[in-house]
Amino acid sequence: MNKNNKIPKFSLSWLYFIIGGALLFIYLFDDGNANQEMVKPYSEVEDYIKNGYVEEISVINNSTLEAYIIKDSVAAVTGKPATDGTRLKVKTTIGSIDNFDNFIREQRENEEAKFKGVVKYEEQKNFWGDLFWNVVPFIALIFVWIFIMRRMSGGGGGQGGVFNVGKSQAKLFDKDKNIRVTFKDVAGQEGAKQEVQEIVDFLKSPQRYTELGGKIPKGALLVGPPGTGKTLLAKAVAGEANVPFFSMSGSDFVEMFVGVGASRVRDLFRQAKEKAPCIIFIDEIDAVGRARGKNPSMGGNDERENTLNQLLTEMDGFGTNSGIIVIAATNRADILDKALLRAGRFDRQIHVDLPDLNERKEVFGVHLRPLKLDPSIDVDTLARQTPGFSGADIANVCNEAALIAARGKKKAVDKQDFLDAIDRIIGGLEKKTKVMTQKEKEAIAIHEAGHATISWFLEHANPLIKVTIVPRGRALGAAWYMPEERQITTKEQMLDEMCATLGGRAAEECFIGHISTGAMNDLERVTKQAYAMVAYAGMSDKLSNLCYYNNQEFSFNRPYSEKTAEMIDTEVHKMINEQYQRAKELLSEHKEGHAELARILIEKEVIFAEDVEKIFGKRPWTSRSEEIFGSNDKSTSNESESEVTEVADSETAE
Ligand code: ADP
Ligand code: ZN
Repeated sequence: MNKNNKIPKFSLSWLYFIIGGALLFIYLFDDGNANQEMVKPYSEVEDYIKNGYVEEISVINNSTLEAYIIKDSVAAVTGKPATDGTRLKVKTTIGSIDNFDNFIREQRENEEAKFKGVVKYEEQKNFWGDLFWNVVPFIALIFVWIFIMRRMSGGGGGQGGVFNVGKSQAKLFDKDKNIRVTFKDVAGQEGAKQEVQEIVDFLKSPQRYTELGGKIPKGALLVGPPGTGKTLLAKAVAGEANVPFFSMSGSDFVEMFVGVGASRVRDLFRQAKEKAPCIIFIDEIDAVGRARGKNPSMGGNDERENTLNQLLTEMDGFGTNSGIIVIAATNRADILDKALLRAGRFDRQIHVDLPDLNERKEVFGVHLRPLKLDPSIDVDTLARQTPGFSGADIANVCNEAALIAARGKKKAVDKQDFLDAIDRIIGGLEKKTKVMTQKEKEAIAIHEAGHATISWFLEHANPLIKVTIVPRGRALGAAWYMPEERQITTKEQMLDEMCATLGGRAAEECFIGHISTGAMNDLERVTKQAYAMVAYAGMSDKLSNLCYYNNQEFSFNRPYSEKTAEMIDTEVHKMINEQYQRAKELLSEHKEGHAELARILIEKEVIFAEDVEKIFGKRPWTSRSEEIFGSNDKSTSNESESEVTEVADSETAE
């Protein structure tokens, strides 16, 4: 340990204390000339005045009297000769100011009286009271200021004090202090793991690479949807290489003050250099790394650009062999500034995707480990029932299942708990208490039965799993499908899906006679999809093979003419109308079956694919769904509708 460390470091706050102390000292103890003071009874002081010992009198606040004694008379008062340079002051309290005034007037009027001095009347405030009222407002102001600063710098949390706004707030996970995360904790993601394995090797034995003249990469970008384990993977890299790990979110750099973001970046890299070799992890890098200058209409965002520039400078600044590797995560690599992706910066992009069936099994494996499980649990079915779930969702399912089991006071978590947990995570809590009239219930049943009927008879529609009219979350009812996990979609598939989605509204029209707001969500989806098909995927007859996709943010001009815009609109109309007609035809063809389905639905509230099969017979094309229903389980993935559509803008706020 360095001896110097024991001496407190000199800092600005010390200087403030010293200056404050000095001022207080002067205020308190500087009394101008040094006085000798005595306290005497009033009558005695009156005698001194009569005898002409007094040269000057001060009356303070009409109650305290201070009489200054003539130098020659000091001996008469104290009995000792006067000392040089001091002035004797005699103090007393005046009983009644009127009496004193009369006394002085008498002295003045009396020719023989010996008192010739001046009488001063003073108003003197209480020193401490004064100090209090002078200082307290300032202290209050300072406190308010500190409070605001803390708020601005993100809650402070021990670090973000007044003098630390520009410090980075990176969390440091040191190799010895924290539980190590390794590749074992990351399930699936084999491809991504292989790519980051290289980084681990660099960190472990850099010389192997540098000896051959190779350059160690400085950064890697993990791209993927939220909850897929990007943070986990970065931590695992640090854990495997046994190096410290700095974690920070891109939004932490963004502050109200100009220059704070840049100074935090500088500070982060300074800290990292001290701990090298190490890993810096920046989550949500899009918060700072958005493409610059694409936003001319909004006056630009200088502060964010400064932060980004600083980040680029720092990344260029440290040598390739200094042992710092920056790993950043985002779910939108397309909006990042090109400069960030250039060689020598985040030139490696590693894709972290949603887990597929087998990977989900592994993720379940990781998160089931700490739970007490009933033997009825089968990881395979669980994985099958969670298509589209991210790793974080699966972790959530496991936790939720344990909570549900605990609520039921069970000894172990069983299958039903998991199914309930999955339902809950997809659809929100069941709202058994939501009041619905019988009429509404019927309408919802007819609507949902419409979806179910149509999807049953369309070859490319996703296989149905269950239909419910139990309100859940914001949805009044839902038909749940097993989506195919596919990367590309054909036009036929999209049209069939569109037709099935329109089935609810079509059933309302055919069998109730009037339409309702219950289909708003369906219609919104259909409209969006139709526009995407026509304008982006070139799937309409008149505008075939044209893609007007424009990934430039904030660009207000369309890359097509007014005439094309009209054409897109007509094509979308045509497409949706065709599918709506098709849905209505299918429904009238299977009228009886639909009515039966709706009836059972009102009675049972939830029906499964088997019930539908009893009514309509086997689907002619069930190869894939059979394998799912073979396990005789209700499965997931939703198609839900809410009474009111809520358009949530997922764009990150600037
Ligand atoms: P991201 O950073 O991609 O948003 P995280 O790494 O924060 O996601 O993941 C959140 C949580 O989800 C993790 O703490 C972990 O419990 C769980 N998780 C995600 N992916 C996986 C995975 N592949 N294996 C195990 N757990 C995972
Ligand atoms: Zn619907």
